[in-house]
Amino acid sequence: MTVSIILKNKGSDIVAMKPDATVAEAVACLTENRIGAVVIVDDAQAVVGIISERDIVRLLSRHETKALEAKLDTVMTHAVVTCTPDENITTIMERMTRGRFRHVPVVSGTRLVGIISIGDVVKYRLEEMERQHAELRDYIMTA
Ligand code: AMP
Repeated sequence: MTVSIILKNKGSDIVAMKPDATVAEAVACLTENRIGAVVIVDDAQAVVGIISERDIVRLLSRHETKALEAKLDTVMTHAVVTCTPDENITTIMERMTRGRFRHVPVVSGTRLVGIISIGDVVKYRLEEMERQHAELRDYIMTA
């Protein structure tokens, strides 16, 4: 199963910000959208960074409330690991585990087309396991 299945079920809403936005704006964005990370894109919608709640907690602990004024391009993670809609969900789980992050932006060509979180992957895997159990039960009952 591919990433595109998760994107289809989530809908096509993409939350992204520009590099000149501030950390305070990112905090408001994460809160309003009830998400744990926001992708930073340039004017062509190409991914240039990501900032997660963990980054913000670390910044606040180091710089206290002064951190809120910083521009995202000075504090975001620049080396973003991405995936494409046609990649396998198991591959993305491995990528998250290896990289120790919980969010992977999805790109098509150079444009951002969605984001997959660890919550999305876990939800998908649980549903898949339930489907497999039901199939096995049906098989045993009809065999
Ligand atoms: P998270 O687990 O998503 O809260 O992220 C933990 C750390 O990894 C933070 O420093 C993020 O900026 C960074 N991060 C999150 N997602 C990615 C990603 N897809 N590629 C690279 N770094 C990431």
